Amino acid sequence: MRVLVVGAGVVGLTTAVCLAENGYDVHVLARDLPLETTSSVAAALWYPYLADPPDRVFGWAALSLQIFTQLARESPEAGVRLVMGTELLKQRCADPYWATAVRGFMRVDSPPAPYLDGWAFEAPVIEMPVYLVWLRSRLESAGGTVTRMALPTLPDAAELVINCAGLGARRLARDVSVVPVRGQVLYLAQLGLARWSLDAEGPTYVVPREHDIVAGGTDVEGDWNTRPERSVAADILRRATTLVPELEGARVLGHRVGLRPVRPSVRLERADSSHPTPIIHCYGHGGAGVTLSWGCAAEVLSLVESC
Ligand SMILES: Cc1cc2nc3c(=O)[nH]c(=O)nc-3n(C[C@H](O)[C@H](O)[C@H](O)COP(=O)(O)OP(=O)(O)OC[C@H]3O[C@@H](n4cnc5c(N)ncnc54)[C@H](O)[C@@H]3O)c2cc1C
Repeated sequence: MRVLVVGAGVVGLTTAVCLAENGYDVHVLARDLPLETTSSVAAALWYPYLADPPDRVFGWAALSLQIFTQLARESPEAGVRLVMGTELLKQRCADPYWATAVRGFMRVDSPPAPYLDGWAFEAPVIEMPVYLVWLRSRLESAGGTVTRMALPTLPDAAELVINCAGLGARRLARDVSVVPVRGQVLYLAQLGLARWSLDAEGPTYVVPREHDIVAGGTDVEGDWNTRPERSVAADILRRATTLVPELEGARVLGHRVGLRPVRPSVRLERADSSHPTPIIHCYGHGGAGVTLSWGCAAEVLSLVESC
């Protein structure tokens, strides 16, 4: 069966890999190639953030966690590592709903001031520029292709179309409930930092990678500006250094912005439409597209098999 996947971000590529490795003739069409997408800006820590509904997100995130863990252990070239880290909170909270999915989840006994609560756990850190290139070559090894093409509407030259256009679904699926939530990050020279840190207020996060450190961030709904702003970068650096004092004086290597495709809930369903070709929508993954990618791709595969 010939399948067209629209979108070459983490959601489109992972879905395409799953389908191609299960015998489908898969072709990805995308306006932006993998390293130009929002996905390439992701920090990217496994963490269910700005994505709903919790019951489906839990299942998708848990399956993705298993696969990322396996990749970290068996495929070092994929750019995935298992890293311990801590989330700190300014108020006391119950365990998050996804706590049972992660390895080594434990409460922090005495959080540093001004924090009152926190937890530590091991999570995959996915180095997106490495990982997206690896995903694309895994797709090509399974016979799939990736072609640059800006589409005015969803295509119909296939037996099935999978819409993984992220924010582009506003136009392609005429869905104005998917909105941009702007995230700005900066890259710092690696100085031996081995743990990630997160303060959901801000949000502020520091994620160590092999050769650099990603420091974030912002989450401004409705802001389409993709240019890094100097004053925002200064504020991120101040917050990140408060959270992780070792960053004091770290060399800034660069800045990027991504627009998270946020929707009241992730849309993963077969479309009930008059379009000549059957369509499965898979978009609106908010701040967790990487975290949910393998779980969503597996669900798309089972929808395709039942078509
Ligand atoms: C600063 C920041 C930090 C983040 N950190 C994390 C993190 O730590 N963990 C995590 O899990 N997630 C994180 N995210 C969220 C994550 O990046 C997104 O959820 C994810 O990238 C969404 O993936 P996607 O493939 O759906 O969309 P995208 O990566 O945006 O890809 C969409 C694709 O569709 C294509 N497309 C759109 N319209 C058209 C059209 N008309 N014609 C053809 N092609 C089209 C685009 O060109 C692109 O190829 C972060 C995001 C940001 C901005």
